[in-house]
Amino acid sequence: MAKKQFKAESKRLLEMMINSIYTHREIFLRELISNASDAIDKIYYKALSDEQMVFDKDNYYIKVKPDKANRTLTISDTGIGMTKEELENNLGVIAKSGSLAFKKENEVKDGHEIIGQFGVGFYSAFMVAESVTVISRALGSNEAYKWESKGADGYTVEPCEKETVGTDIILKIKENTEDDQYDEYLEEYRLRAIIKKYSDFIRYPIRMDVTGSRLKEGSENEYEEYQEEQTINSMVPIWKKNKSELTPEDYANFYTEKRYGFDKPLKHIHLSVEGTISYNAILFIPENIPYDFYSAEYEKGLELYSSGVLIMNKCPDLLPDYFSFVKGMVDSEDLSLNISREMLQHDRQLKLIAKNIKNKIKNQLQSMLKEEREKYEQFYKQFGRQLKYGVYSEYGSHKEELQDLLMFYSSKEKKLVTLDEYVSAMPEEQKYIYYASGESIERIEKLPQTELVAEKGYEILYFTEDIDEFAVKMLMSYKEKEFRSVSSGDLGIETEDNKEQEDSLDEADKELFEHMEKLLAGKVKKVRVSKRLRSHPVCLSTDGEVTIEMEKILKSMPN
Ligand code: ADP
Ligand code: MG
Repeated sequence: MAKKQFKAESKRLLEMMINSIYTHREIFLRELISNASDAIDKIYYKALSDEQMVFDKDNYYIKVKPDKANRTLTISDTGIGMTKEELENNLGVIAKSGSLAFKKENEVKDGHEIIGQFGVGFYSAFMVAESVTVISRALGSNEAYKWESKGADGYTVEPCEKETVGTDIILKIKENTEDDQYDEYLEEYRLRAIIKKYSDFIRYPIRMDVTGSRLKEGSENEYEEYQEEQTINSMVPIWKKNKSELTPEDYANFYTEKRYGFDKPLKHIHLSVEGTISYNAILFIPENIPYDFYSAEYEKGLELYSSGVLIMNKCPDLLPDYFSFVKGMVDSEDLSLNISREMLQHDRQLKLIAKNIKNKIKNQLQSMLKEEREKYEQFYKQFGRQLKYGVYSEYGSHKEELQDLLMFYSSKEKKLVTLDEYVSAMPEEQKYIYYASGESIERIEKLPQTELVAEKGYEILYFTEDIDEFAVKMLMSYKEKEFRSVSSGDLGIETEDNKEQEDSLDEADKELFEHMEKLLAGKVKKVRVSKRLRSHPVCLSTDGEVTIEMEKILKSMPN
C-alpha cells in the first residue's frame, strides 16, 4: 500500500512551535542578532582559510535601526550573506539550519562560536512582525535577492539591488492590539535594553542611531535633538578576560552592573574550565544576606549564557539549595541556544557544569576557612544557617560534603570553632561532642545542665539557632564521635560510683520523690537525685533522642 503523507496546518504549527519554544517575545531580537553574528563569524572563518581574503574587524558590525513612521525594524549585518538557494533552503525550510550545515561542511572545531543549529530562531521574528523581508548578497556574488514572507503562508524570492555583501532583515512590526503591545519594539530605549540584556557580549559591535539632546549652538537654554551612532554592546565579556588582567574592583563593578545585589561581593570565583565540557563562570558570595533571601520571592540561580548570549536569567539547576546565596553567571559554548527551560533541566551538559560548580564553591569556602578565617566567619554569620539546612535537608544526603564547613560557638574558646577543631581538642577520655541549646549564648551559660560537663573541663558547643540541633541529629557523629546534648540523661561521664550513690539516695527519699511526681504529674516522668548539679538546686533532663529544646521547636511547628 502506498504511504500517505501527514498533512499539517503549517501556519498553526509554526505558531505553536514559536510559542512553545520562546517564553518572551522580546527574544526575537536576540535570535536575529545571533544569526547576524553567526554570519560574520562565517566570513571570518572563510578568511582564516583563504589567504586572498583579509578580515579587518572594523568592517564587521551589526546595525539595528527602528523606523517609527514606517513601523519597520531593520537588523543589518556585514556577514557572509545568502545566495538565492540559501535563502530558499535556510529560510524556506523550517528547522533547517544553514549554520549547522556550515559547521559540518567546514569541519568547524569544537569551541568555534557559531551559535545557530536548530533552524528555528529566524521564525521568532513572526512573533512581532506581520511580514519579514530579507535582502541579502552573498560573499563572492554580484547579485542580491529579496526574500519576503508573511509567515507560514509561503514566501517569494526575487532579484534586487544591494551594494555590499551582507544581509538586511526588515521586520514590519505588528500593530498594537487590545491585548498585545508591539510599539515598544520601535523604541530606542527599549531596543537598547533588550540588546544589553541578551546580546551584550556578542563579539561584534551592535550599532544603533541614538537620539540625544544638546544645547543649540550659541544658545544658553535652547536644546536641539541630534542623532549619533553608538555601539550598544560591551563585546568582550569580563569572564572571557584573563584573571591576571582583572582587579577586585573589576569584579565588584560587574557585580553592581549586573545588579546581583546592593552590597559588595565578599568573594568572587572566576572559573575557566576546559575539558569534556568547557565553560567560563564568575560566581560571587555576597557580603550580606539579600533582603528577600528568606522570603518566597527569592529565586536562586545563575545567569546562563551560550557563547555570550543570555539564555536564562536565573537557571536554578546550576545551584544546590544550600548554596542558593551564590550569585553570578555561566557561559558555555557546549550548550545550545534555543533550548527551552524544560529541555534544559535534562541537559546532561548542564548537570555536569552544575556538579563542577558546586565543588568549586565548596573548595573556595574551605580555603577561605583555612586562609581567611575572619572573612569566613563573616560569611558564616550571614549564610551558615543555609549550610546547616543543607546538612539536614534531603535526608542528610549532603552531610559529608558540608560538615567541615560548619561552625558553632565554643564554651571554651568563646568564639566559633569547626567540628574538626572541637574533636582535635578533645581529651582522650572524652566520649562525646557535647552541645547545649538555648536562645542565646548568655542563656546557655546559665543552664544548670552545662555545669557537670564544664567542670570536667570539656568544651560545649552552644546551639542558638533552631536548625542547629536538627543538623547534628542528621550528622549523628563527626569523626566517630557522637553528639550528645548536655541535657541528655546519659552524659557518659557519671562513674559507676556516682550511679550507685544516686540510686541509694533515691531510695532514702523515695516518699518525697513520689509525692513530687504526683504534684508534677503530666509535666515530668520521674523525680530523682542527680549528682551532676553544682550550683543549681534542680534541672530538667531527658532520656530519649529528643532534647528539651527540640521538643519546644517541634511543638511550635504547625502540623
Ligand atoms: P539557526 O540559527 O539555529 O541555524 P535560524 O532559524 O536562526 O536557525 O536561521 C536559519 C539559517 O538561516 C541559519 O542557519 C543561516 O544559515 C541562515 N541565516 C539566518 N540569518 C542569516 C543572516 N543574517 N546572514 C546569513 N545567513 C543567515
Ligand atoms: Mg539562529
